Amino acid sequence: MTHRVVMVAGDGIGPEVAAAARHVLDATGVDLEWMDRPAGASALEHHGSLLPEGTLDAIRDCRVALKGPITTPVGTGFRSVNVALRQDLDLFAAVRPARSLPGVPTRHDGVDLVVVRENTEDLYQGIEFERGSEEARALRVRLRDLGGFEVREDAGVTLKPISVSGTQRIVRFAFEYARANRRTKVTVGHKAGVMRYSDGLFLETARADARGYPDVAWEEIQVDHLSARLVQRPSDFDVLLLPNLYGDILSDLCAGLVGGLGLIPGANIGWEYAVFEPVHGSAPDIAGTGIANPIAMILSGAMLLRHVGELDAAARVEGAVDAVLREGSVRTGDLGGTSTTTEMADAIASAVDGA
Ligand code: NAD
Repeated sequence: MTHRVVMVAGDGIGPEVAAAARHVLDATGVDLEWMDRPAGASALEHHGSLLPEGTLDAIRDCRVALKGPITTPVGTGFRSVNVALRQDLDLFAAVRPARSLPGVPTRHDGVDLVVVRENTEDLYQGIEFERGSEEARALRVRLRDLGGFEVREDAGVTLKPISVSGTQRIVRFAFEYARANRRTKVTVGHKAGVMRYSDGLFLETARADARGYPDVAWEEIQVDHLSARLVQRPSDFDVLLLPNLYGDILSDLCAGLVGGLGLIPGANIGWEYAVFEPVHGSAPDIAGTGIANPIAMILSGAMLLRHVGELDAAARVEGAVDAVLREGSVRTGDLGGTSTTTEMADAIASAVDGA
């Protein structure tokens, strides 16, 4: 069976790791028909848009995409492409597994956890009021009228909406994911004591829905305390269920626990579409030098293969990554070696071939 997959190479190191991942996935022998589509800085230059409608249409058509990182211009008024993609395709669940990898020395062994992050609401929904704008002024006046809330005149404002319906679907997703992947515990991170009507609602909704999954253990923990516990004893955790912002931050923390951003894959999943991408960004500091670690992108590709039903090929890619890391002679700079992106991809593709 042919699988049509949109490839969005992205910015910075994106094209380098995208080429590496394509090489490895093609080595599995699975029939993948790649549809290259632009997004990010190069799309803006050539198509006048950071996220051309044609790219969204292609993903709607193929239903799955593998995506490299995209640079988010800071403070320019552009909506983040990543946020737009997740919202426009309603990719409400981000799944980011972090597991200890062979041959990658870290502080803790035996880490095997998965961050399930709500992907569409919270402070990342994009409801923002620029300091000094007419809208910010009107909002200030309205807030004073509504509840006597005083917002300083020189403040910018970002809103944090969290809904029952948005929470229910991510909670159910987390529990179904736990069941399907033989995981035994879901831990929710929150700050419900301080943000009663957003985090509080997330916690209450999650707690109520958790009762429908008596076979999976349930745990509640304040997100600041959770951060400390993760650094001290990450093996205490299994599935972490988090609102958008905390999920973003803690998935990088989890990446750090198992050896760094170059290793951690991710998926953005909705009812209809799924976009797979590494947790790392476009790494402008090393872009174009050919030294980026392609493993996060390759493992994102393995998640894609599993999603489209190619379970054996997915397992072979993951096994090949483990084999190359365990053997240890091919390592990129972030893992203490001197190998290039291409050398790493070639080694993993050969291991897939030989598997
Ligand atoms: P980053 O992840 O790009 O880089 C952080 C550090 O990790 C850098 O030192 C970088 O060299 C290193 N690193 C990242 N990926 C690596 C890899 N594969 N191999 C080796 N080293 C790697 O984070 P940043 O610098 O905060 O962000 C850069 C840009 O990427 C920003 O514009 C940001 O908005 C964007 N970003 C995009 C995504 C995405 O598209 N999903 C995610 C995060 C950040």
